[in-house]
Amino acid sequence: MQRELPMFTPPGQGGHGHEPITIAIGGGRLDEAADGGMAPRRHPDWIRARLPTGPNYTELKGLMRGLALNTVCEEARCPNIGECWEQRTATVMILGDTCTRACGFCAVKTGRPSWNDADEPRRVAEAVRQMGLEHVVVTSVARDDLPDGGAHIFADTIRALRAECPGMGVEVLIPDFNGQDEPLRTVMEAGPDILNHNVETVERLQKPVRKRARYHRSLEVLRVAKAQALDIAGRPGTVHTKSSLMVGLGETRDELSVTFRDLRVVDCDILTIGQYLRPSPAHLPVERYVHPDEFAEMKAEALEQGFKHVESGPLVRSSYHARDQVPEEAKRARGSLGAALAANGIDPAA
Ligand code: SF4
Repeated sequence: MQRELPMFTPPGQGGHGHEPITIAIGGGRLDEAADGGMAPRRHPDWIRARLPTGPNYTELKGLMRGLALNTVCEEARCPNIGECWEQRTATVMILGDTCTRACGFCAVKTGRPSWNDADEPRRVAEAVRQMGLEHVVVTSVARDDLPDGGAHIFADTIRALRAECPGMGVEVLIPDFNGQDEPLRTVMEAGPDILNHNVETVERLQKPVRKRARYHRSLEVLRVAKAQALDIAGRPGTVHTKSSLMVGLGETRDELSVTFRDLRVVDCDILTIGQYLRPSPAHLPVERYVHPDEFAEMKAEALEQGFKHVESGPLVRSSYHARDQVPEEAKRARGSLGAALAANGIDPAA
C-alpha cells in the first residue's frame, strides 16, 4: 500500500557539493553556538579520520558508479571511508539512496523514493565479486512505501551473492519492516550469515533519535530472526545477530547497561558502539564526546554480559571492521542456513 510520507530534507543533502566528505573531517565547519550564533565545530583529538584517497579508494568509487550502486559509506558520510575503502571494505546500500524515514542522526537523504530496480541484486553481486571480499555488508534505506519494505530485494541480493561469491560471509543490516514477521522471514530464508538490526540508542532517546522506530520492536526483530533461523534450519547456530549503539546523544551509562542487557535477553551475539557525530546543524547535537577509555570500559562490560564480539571506539560504525567481528563459529557455519534450506528440499538460490 502506498503511504503519504513525511518530506524532510536537511540543508545540504541535495548533493555533496559543499559538505565535507565525511562527518569527522567536518571539524572546522560552522555549528550552532550556545548563544544561538555560529561557531567552528571542534572534535576532540581522538576523532581522527583518514582522508579518502589512494588507488583502492579510487578504484572502488569507479566500480560503484560504473554499476550504478550506492554505498552507505558515502551517503552517510562515514568517517571511516578512507580506511575501509583502502582495505577494500564497503557497505553496499540497496533499494535506492532516498529513505522514507527522517531519523535525527542520519545523513542519508529523506523523501519519497522512486527507485525500483530488480536488476540491483545482480549488480551488487558483480561488484562484490570484483572487489574480492571475504565478508560483505548489505544494507538499505527504509522503504516504508513498499508492502514488504524491500525484503525480497534483500533476499535476492543474498542469493545472488551466494551464487557469485561462494564461501563469502554475507551480513545484512536490515530496517525493522514495521515489525512484520513475513518480510523478516523472506530475508532469513535466503540464509544470511549475520542478521544485523540496530537499536541505535537507549530506550528513552528513541523518539528524538529515530522517530518512526520503536525500541522494543527492534529488539523483537532480533529475537524473531533467531527463532525463524532455528525453525528454518532445525538447529541453532546457523545465524548470528548483531546490533549497534551510538553514544554521546545524552544517554547515561546506566541506560546503556540496561540496553546491553536487553540485547542479551534476545540473544544478540555481536555489538558495536561508536561516537555519534552530527552530520549537519539540522541534525541532533552531540551532547558529549565519549573518551576512548570509556569505550574500553563499555566493551569490557558488554563482553561480561555475554556478547560474543564487541567493537567499541569513537569511530566504530556498524560495519567497521565487519569481517573481523565474525565469531569463529559463525565462520565455520558460513552459509549453513542456506545449506539447511537446501537439505530440506528448498532451493535457497531459487
Ligand atoms: S565503517 Fe562501514 S559505512 Fe563506514 S566506511 Fe567502513 S564499511 Fe563504509
